[in-house]
Amino acid sequence: MAKVKTHYEDCDVLVVGGGMAGTGATFEARHWGRDLKIICVEKANIDRSGAVAQGLYAINCYMGMQWDENQPEDHVRYARNDLMGLVREDLGYDMARHVDSTVHMFDEWGLPMMKNEKTGRYLREGKWQIMIHGESFKPIVAEAAKKSADKIYNRIMITHLLMDESKENRVGGAVGFNMRTGDYHVFRAKAVIVAAGGASHIFKPRAVGEGMGRTWYAPWSNGSAYALPIAVGAKMTQMENRIVLTRFKDGYGPVGAYFLHLKTYTQNANGENYEKKWYNQTKEIVGEYIDHHPVPTCLRNHAFIQEVAAGGGPIQMVTTEAFQDPHLETVGWENFLGMTVGQAVVWASQNIDPKYTNPELTTSEPYVMGSHATCSGAWVSGPEDLSPPEYFWGYNRMLTVDGLFGAGDTVGGSAHKFSSGSFTEGRLAAKAAVKYIEDQKAENIKVTDKQCEDFKETIYKPLENYTVGRNEITGGTVSPSYILPIQGLQRLQKIMDEYVGGVGVNYMTNENLLKRGLDLLNILQEDLEHIGAEDYHQLMRAWELKHRALTSQCVTEHTMFREETRWPGYYYRGDHMKLDDENWHCLTLSRRDPKTGKFTMEKVPVYHIVDDEKKKKAS
Ligand SMILES: Cc1cc2nc3c(=O)[nH]c(=O)nc-3n(C[C@H](O)[C@H](O)[C@H](O)COP(=O)(O)OP(=O)(O)OC[C@H]3O[C@@H](n4cnc5c(N)ncnc54)[C@H](O)[C@@H]3O)c2cc1C
Repeated sequence: MAKVKTHYEDCDVLVVGGGMAGTGATFEARHWGRDLKIICVEKANIDRSGAVAQGLYAINCYMGMQWDENQPEDHVRYARNDLMGLVREDLGYDMARHVDSTVHMFDEWGLPMMKNEKTGRYLREGKWQIMIHGESFKPIVAEAAKKSADKIYNRIMITHLLMDESKENRVGGAVGFNMRTGDYHVFRAKAVIVAAGGASHIFKPRAVGEGMGRTWYAPWSNGSAYALPIAVGAKMTQMENRIVLTRFKDGYGPVGAYFLHLKTYTQNANGENYEKKWYNQTKEIVGEYIDHHPVPTCLRNHAFIQEVAAGGGPIQMVTTEAFQDPHLETVGWENFLGMTVGQAVVWASQNIDPKYTNPELTTSEPYVMGSHATCSGAWVSGPEDLSPPEYFWGYNRMLTVDGLFGAGDTVGGSAHKFSSGSFTEGRLAAKAAVKYIEDQKAENIKVTDKQCEDFKETIYKPLENYTVGRNEITGGTVSPSYILPIQGLQRLQKIMDEYVGGVGVNYMTNENLLKRGLDLLNILQEDLEHIGAEDYHQLMRAWELKHRALTSQCVTEHTMFREETRWPGYYYRGDHMKLDDENWHCLTLSRRDPKTGKFTMEKVPVYHIVDDEKKKKAS
């Protein structure tokens, strides 16, 4: 270990992850903290990192308050409906009331926005979405962060949070390593904002073999946003609420612009509208939720999954009508070029021209995230003026660990933030983090050299395991002493798939399966102590896997705790096949004890602040 060089950096605000939320946090921290030292640490390169790396074709969250197109209350109602009643309305409202100002900044910074020629307003793709030429989206927000930070560190993966040794439950910074140089980096900080994206590749993907690595959510999103806080005992919420996406088959190409702008629609193999067929059956499970408008995303998935299971596949998107219009044909292709070019390549390789052939759709493997049509993540304090006492403990977006903040996919309970809402939430978290520091809440933090040295030993152990264990074999990859990251990853994905409701079992699970899944995940954790890494890149893979495995344990515990099927189409509890509002119209919380590794679960009330509560207060 003596060979590894250590770098120390002391700062005020440390932002972990330079994606949409991280760039927003870095930018806003400078606005409020003129004299503070602000550092952002990114695993890849901030110019092209995170889920928006390749670009986007639409900003999916814009109210348009200046034209009275939507108000924050409308967005809360929308997200609440889509998540079958269960969201943190204080967080959603807070994001929504600020998101337009974020989008206006993107416009000022040079993001090419499409305009409606007749009205001069941003061109709407749907009620919430506005269309952009978004290939340059990520470099533009990265520039704002680069100009705001004292320093951006690229190619450093944060593996652990540092904790204050003088006051319990207070953060003291973070540590990680540079994947190119191998150097060890210690960041001692007064406040830490975790903005490290969601989790893909914890469930076995549909794309295996030559397609391995192809996923809908970014393959490099490895759950650090969850594992870092879980490891230090922060409370998590709604981790059972994984998301399944209906997307174009094999390339995971987006369907939003197709449905909303091109007005394409889906049909089964016989050309029928299959969704209607499953109305009564879905009503049996979820009651009146099936009559809501728009139909919640999970319920549309449900009809798809049932139809395929009943032999009605393949399900197709009817593109052959819309693509006769040359303008819509162009939009259809450009939609991929700005965001998922791989889908166009897949179609080319499979002789699919959507003008003449209706392409197939499929449902994806599940992902864990907090910013899309799903709301897994950390349990955070809401804003002072909106949140009921149970949702408020001093600083907006602060986790249940003092000085530790979150934004974007990290934060649970607040769905439908997307790119603009995640950036906005980063801004909100940073403003609160600066206030936390100014209020002197981060005084006298003690992080000893011993804590840093202990982490150093832990982080580089996989290299040691490999170097020693490799001597026991003369060829091949199977060793009696270590497992490789790819072997561990495939084991994790198989466990999650078969026991926790992945594609292999048509998203079905139950208590017995989940218990067995937890046993197997515990055995995997034991074996991960013996993971081997042959170089720094594999060391990153090893730590990505460890973060994925911890996230998976949390997902499994939550899935076992919620004894109902709240989101059919995302997953099914075969032993509790109905939505149960009487017992489960609540949010779930978990906490993992950092000393014992044991999870405890609890229910917390879901407060309907928009409509119900406001009316009550007024009367
Ligand atoms: C395929 C796809 C399509 C989408 N389409 C749209 C759309 O059309 N419109 C829209 O508005 N939104 C869209 N979104 C959603 C949007 O991209 C996300 O909501 C947003 O990027 C979430 O922001 P975030 O900062 O939480 O995560 P990210 O933007 O993913 O950023 C996370 C960052 O953390 C870094 N990181 C991860 N782990 C570590 C670690 N351990 N140490 C250091 N750094 C780390 C990552 O490299 C990354 O840069 C889409 C997302 C996907 C995947």
